[in-house]
Amino acid sequence: MEFEFTTEQILFRQEVREFLETEISLGTFQPKCDAWIQGYSPEFTKKLSQKGWIGLTWPVEYGGQGRSHTDRLILTEEMLRYGAPAACHWFADRQIGGAVLRYGTEEQKRWILPKIIAGEAYVGLGLSEPEAGSDLASLRTKATEDGDEYIIDGQKMWTSCGVFMNHIYMVARTDPEAPQHRGISEFILETDRPGITITPTIDITGSTAWAEVFFDNVKIPKSSLIGEKNRGFYQVVNQLDYERAGMERLMGNYPLFDAILKFTKETKRHGKPICEDTFIRQKLAQLQIEFEVGRLMIYKVISVMEEGHAPNVEAAKAKAYSTAFERRLASVSMDILGMYGQLWAESKYAPIAGLGSHSYLASTGYSLQAGTSEVLKNIIASRGLGLPSAS
Ligand SMILES: Cc1cc2nc3c(=O)[nH]c(=O)nc-3n(C[C@H](O)[C@H](O)[C@H](O)COP(=O)(O)OP(=O)(O)OC[C@H]3O[C@@H](n4cnc5c(N)ncnc54)[C@H](O)[C@@H]3O)c2cc1C
Repeated sequence: MEFEFTTEQILFRQEVREFLETEISLGTFQPKCDAWIQGYSPEFTKKLSQKGWIGLTWPVEYGGQGRSHTDRLILTEEMLRYGAPAACHWFADRQIGGAVLRYGTEEQKRWILPKIIAGEAYVGLGLSEPEAGSDLASLRTKATEDGDEYIIDGQKMWTSCGVFMNHIYMVARTDPEAPQHRGISEFILETDRPGITITPTIDITGSTAWAEVFFDNVKIPKSSLIGEKNRGFYQVVNQLDYERAGMERLMGNYPLFDAILKFTKETKRHGKPICEDTFIRQKLAQLQIEFEVGRLMIYKVISVMEEGHAPNVEAAKAKAYSTAFERRLASVSMDILGMYGQLWAESKYAPIAGLGSHSYLASTGYSLQAGTSEVLKNIIASRGLGLPSAS
């Protein structure tokens, strides 16, 4: 058992930190919670591309760097620590590139991977529909074969970053007669095709980082099909393991953790910093314990990926645990901030730039996206504990 990073990895972490600190000092971005999924910055994505930090683990022949999952873990961990705006490329870098590498044709790889690496193709994920969330196999959006094309009709919802994505990786029903799981296929297409309408969804925090995507007689070439026709459900289930695997499940609101620690050191009550208060110290120490446990769980996930396996049960455990931690972090922060903590960032009276109120509301959704905690616990029960599936 080794719990050490190599010298190269330590130096890489240092390089990433220095880069991010420089970008903050240049004013490229300000640290924010949820910046990995809500932070729209083509400029920052381009800068990462120039560093060679998009597609870090992908093969060199497609423009990647051929580096390890641990290197990507270090990169993403630091980006999350600094709340860097990475939403333009995060999904493609995390899972869509990997899916294309695994299931795509040579032509598809040479078409989309260099565009992602160049920081130009922003790819959203079109799985969920009004009647298909946890039960994805019941999706209704259909892709009907018509000569050399497929015609797509239907609706996706909750598409993260849908308002600015220029591509979508989606699932649609290609065989309505087949059993649900066996009649679904995966596609990748540009979102500027005629017949696509994207409508932002405003969430409880006021964010429009999500969208409904409507498809009305959208024609796509057959070359948009990824992998095997009617095997898309099985392909996407594999992809979901990677969607759940990352450090963003633990550190999405890390800037809040940093800010609340600083707040307790700088804020005084009866002449003493409130970090000396026993109640507050205990709460913060408990959070640190939980954070370190979550971090080790995600390192375990990465070690499974380094062995060349999809991190199924490991990712389910890590995500269920980590998203619960993030909610506790937000909740403890609100306890500490008191009434003013509820103010939005726009208010001049909002402590820690409104990170508390944002995170308190936003973190309720963390345990839903990419598979709810209940669904993840079903995976752990059946594949981790070997219990029979619920009938
Ligand atoms: C912030 C956010 C971002 C998202 N981004 C995307 C995106 O980019 N692309 C995309 O395609 N989707 C996205 N989603 C959608 C997300 O994947 C779904 O919300 C999720 O799969 C749950 O589906 P649902 O909302 O329809 O809830 P439902 O599936 O209707 O579930 C409702 C409740 O029932 C529980 N439940 C359901 N089935 C079971 C079961 N078998 N056992 C026990 N309990 C169960 C659930 O845990 C939940 O509590 C996003 C969601 C959120 C909140």
